[in-house]
Amino acid sequence: MSSIELKHIVKKYGDGFPAVNDVNLDIKDGEFVILVGPSGCGKSTLLRMIVGLEDITSGEMEIDGKRVNDLAPRDRNLAMVFQNYALYPHLTVFENIAFPLRLQKGKHSNEEIDKKVRDASAMLELDEHLERKPGNLSGGQRQRVAMGRAIVREADAFLFDEPLSNLDAKLRGQMRTEIARMQRRLGITTVYVTHDQTEAMTLGDRVCVLKRGILQQVASPRELYEQP
Ligand code: ADP
Ligand code: ADP
Repeated sequence: MSSIELKHIVKKYGDGFPAVNDVNLDIKDGEFVILVGPSGCGKSTLLRMIVGLEDITSGEMEIDGKRVNDLAPRDRNLAMVFQNYALYPHLTVFENIAFPLRLQKGKHSNEEIDKKVRDASAMLELDEHLERKPGNLSGGQRQRVAMGRAIVREADAFLFDEPLSNLDAKLRGQMRTEIARMQRRLGITTVYVTHDQTEAMTLGDRVCVLKRGILQQVASPRELYEQP
C-alpha cells in the first residue's frame, strides 16, 4: 500500500495541445480513485505515466514521498491489471499467480512461492480453483487471478484501464461488485480508469473528472451526484 502524488504533471506528444495538462492529485494510502472523462481526454495517458509506460514531459510524481519520474515500470512496484487480464491460457491458476515470483529467479524458494500463492488465493477465494486453467474460469475469477499476481508481488497499488469495457451489461454489473469488494478487502490503493458513469458513481472513494487533459473536478461520488 502506498500513496501516489502527482504534481503539475504534463504530457505532450509532439508539439500539439498537451494530452495531460498540469494535473495535481494526492492519492492516499488505500484509496480507490476513479479517472473519468470522454474519449481522448487523457485518462490512459495519465495512467500510463503513473505506471511508467509513458515518460512524463514535466512535473513530479512521487510514491510514498519518493520521486519516481525516472524509475522503470518494474521498479515502481505498481500492478497494472489489464482489460483482457493477460493470463497465460496454458498455465494453471496457481502458475499464473506464481508467475511474477518465478520471474524473480532465485529470489524465492518453492516453499515461499507455494505459501504466497496459497495466501493470495485464500484472500481472493480462489483456493478451490488452483489447478484449473483460465479458459475454465468465469470473468470474475479471471479478474481475481490477475489481482492475485499483483498481490504475490506485494504491489503498492492496482491500476485498472477500463477493465470492464468489453463485457456485456450483466457481467459488468457482477464484476463491478467483485472489484469493489476485493479492493475493500485488500485495502490496496487503486486507480481505475473508465468512461462509464455507473462505475464512476459506485466504485470509488473519489472521482477525478478529466477534460482535454485538465483535471476539472475531484469529488466524492455523492458530491458529484448531488450537484445541480
Ligand atoms: P483517453 O484514454 O481518455 O481516451 P488518451 O490518453 O488515450 O485518452 O489520449 C489523450 C490524447 O492524447 C488524445 O488526443 C490522443 O489522441 C493523444 N495520444 C494518446 N496517445 C498518443 C500517442 N502515443 N501519440 C500521440 N498522441 C497520443
Ligand atoms: P483508449 O481506448 O485507451 O483511448 P486508443 O484506442 O485511443 O486507446 O489508443 C490505443 C493506442 O494508440 C494507445 O497506445 C495510444 O497511446 C495510441 N494512440 C492514441 N492516439 C494516438 C495518436 N493520436 N497517435 C498515436 N498513437 C495514438
